[in-house]
Amino acid sequence: MKFQWLCLLLGFSLPAFAAEYYIRVPFKNYEDIKRLVDQGFDVGGINLQKKRVTLVVKEEDLPKTRGMKILEKRAIGRPDSQYKKPVDVEKMLFDTETAFPHLAKVESIGKTGEGRDIWAIHLTSYFFVSEKPKLSVLFDAMHHAREVMTPEVALDIVDYLTKNYGADPKVTKWMNQYDIWVVPMLNPDGNNKVWNSSSMWRKNNRGGYGVDPNRNYTYEWNSCNGSSGSQSSETYRGPSAGSEPESQALMNLATRIKPMFNISYHSYSEIVIYPYGCSPKHIPAPDQAIYEGVGKELAAKLVRDSGSGSYDPGTAYELLYDVDGGSIDWMYASEKVMSFVIEMNGDAEGFQPSYAAWRDKTVQRQRLGWQYILDRMEGPGIKPQ
Ligand SMILES: [Zn+2]
Repeated sequence: MKFQWLCLLLGFSLPAFAAEYYIRVPFKNYEDIKRLVDQGFDVGGINLQKKRVTLVVKEEDLPKTRGMKILEKRAIGRPDSQYKKPVDVEKMLFDTETAFPHLAKVESIGKTGEGRDIWAIHLTSYFFVSEKPKLSVLFDAMHHAREVMTPEVALDIVDYLTKNYGADPKVTKWMNQYDIWVVPMLNPDGNNKVWNSSSMWRKNNRGGYGVDPNRNYTYEWNSCNGSSGSQSSETYRGPSAGSEPESQALMNLATRIKPMFNISYHSYSEIVIYPYGCSPKHIPAPDQAIYEGVGKELAAKLVRDSGSGSYDPGTAYELLYDVDGGSIDWMYASEKVMSFVIEMNGDAEGFQPSYAAWRDKTVQRQRLGWQYILDRMEGPGIKPQ
């Protein structure tokens, strides 16, 4: 509000944001969700308990929803300005490095199409001499630009581990024994667009139309209709496998650090997703039991926004729809990383919940998930390649 008044006083206008709506429709089964995806709708997320899907629909596309059973239609506003912008993430990471030089090092893992650095922070006790080589773990957030809660959780990991080192025995042990890597904002170009012209922007900004970085990974790229070849689609897979700087940056980092686990934070739907994304493929035995077992335990740690019940685990096609070229499939297939997507938050407030009402609650609840993963580092796990 203050910013808007300032703009009026200074006589310059706010950027024009196109009108968009959350439209909730019921679903009975996964064919219903698949049909919506095939019709080209932007499926924002689902509510498995209430059996409803939320679509993100632009004003000009409203006629496409005619004849559908609409449970609710809500205009989408601007994101809460307290969420982090690319400059805020950068500042917080460098402030952490300055405050804790013995625990944190910031590194650029790539440059975006618009020339922004993709920042990673490497957390470990640099003075602690371990008898064994340190195992690695990788947390990433914001493949999708509009999912503004996800960097908050990633930055909370950074904050929690640095500030509690030496005081909390568990944190001290994790930081002494592991190399903990956090990439809090993989897609800063897309996020910049969220703040400047399009609250619901999801992709990066290649050519102004954008590529979905999470359909661009090289493993089984464009293999099962789990992405789109159309530049205007929200799931446009890009011109070729691994064409995007964001997916390249994460693949290069994972290949270098060989993490035991990876969590990729997305929002929303209150689910935990493990590979594979293409129906009906599963992780092969003997890895499947361990991998899906961890996924189920991870999901059980995560409390829903309602305060009762926990997240649902499964593959993308069991819970949502087919996904090809996604990060977690590549992580396992190429590097034998146990990799999970956590779709945080419920559907009540969509992608951009009120910061004051939801930020602290969400990061606190997500701590049980990433701390479970750190506790689980000793195994049993999957043998790295
Ligand atoms: Zn996402």
